Amino acid sequence: MPNIILTTDCQRKCSYCFAKGNENKDQKFKMKTYLKVIEFLRRSKTQEVGLLGGEPTLHPQYTNFLDIALDRGLAATTFTNGMLSEEKIEKIQNIIKKRGLTPEKQKIFFLVNVNEEKDWIKNEGDMQANFMKAFGGFVDISFNIYHKEFDLKFLVELIKKYKLFPKIRIGLAAPLGNKNEFLLTDYYKEVAEKLVAFTDERIKNRIVLHFDCGFPLCMFADEQLGKLFKSYMRNFRFYCAPIIDIYPDLEISHCYPLSNVHKRNLSEFNDMGEVHSYFKKFSYGLKEKIKRLYPECNDCIHYGQMCAGGCLSTMLKQEGLI
Ligand code: SF4
Ligand code: SF4
Repeated sequence: MPNIILTTDCQRKCSYCFAKGNENKDQKFKMKTYLKVIEFLRRSKTQEVGLLGGEPTLHPQYTNFLDIALDRGLAATTFTNGMLSEEKIEKIQNIIKKRGLTPEKQKIFFLVNVNEEKDWIKNEGDMQANFMKAFGGFVDISFNIYHKEFDLKFLVELIKKYKLFPKIRIGLAAPLGNKNEFLLTDYYKEVAEKLVAFTDERIKNRIVLHFDCGFPLCMFADEQLGKLFKSYMRNFRFYCAPIIDIYPDLEISHCYPLSNVHKRNLSEFNDMGEVHSYFKKFSYGLKEKIKRLYPECNDCIHYGQMCAGGCLSTMLKQEGLI
């Protein structure tokens, strides 16, 4: 699913954010450019689009953008911190109401990225609670792991309390040069243990776990993989594939963490198929040039099969290239 970066602005500024360094630049999509992108996606027969930031809902025209994507038949997922004003919440509710949308129709979703209370900024918890109360089943929870000290239990409480869609997306925070906090590979196994230890609580509450890209297969022992496999898992893959982020000036990148490494412009391509092939080749080429995540990756039978070998930005960081 390609992501349109509506604005680089964000009020929360998480220490691990993959867009770190962008949030103070005032880059915003203009309506004319947005319509161009939507037309490009339609021409490419793309079914869904991500509205991303910064915090995409801070764009003054966010609700218009959302409306337009839905009008053009795209399913839209907004990646948000959930800190929206009452007024904006009401506008979105009207969009949902006028179209008769329900979570089952899967046309509109909000992936709310939550932090543990110790990392909250002012009003964060209250505003997210308002948002979750308003949108319940349209909300998936997202949590990014950037250090080994974390406790996932509060996510279950949020899902139960606000009757959210019973799914948690987990990401491992990837490095962006010296700009953000990210999860050190030294901690991967401890993190794996915690994720597996969370399984019984999840199963009891029928909550699906969804791994984002960049997880290396061998951070889990075989027994742990077995336990996860038999639990509610979605996207139980160990992959790295072009996501395609589209910036307000129509520059495009493989994904946020690689945006400082290489960008092209959407206008150079005819459709998303071409874009994907280009960035697939780009990432394969990059992998050939840099050291793999672990020396074991070189002879690993899973490399390129069940496992992409972790996140490219982690490999670049290891080599001091970002
Ligand atoms: S480099 Fe690959 S694994 Fe890392 S964020 Fe980008 S797409 Fe995901
Ligand atoms: S390819 Fe590398 S990261 Fe993946 S399982 Fe093999 S050794 Fe681990």
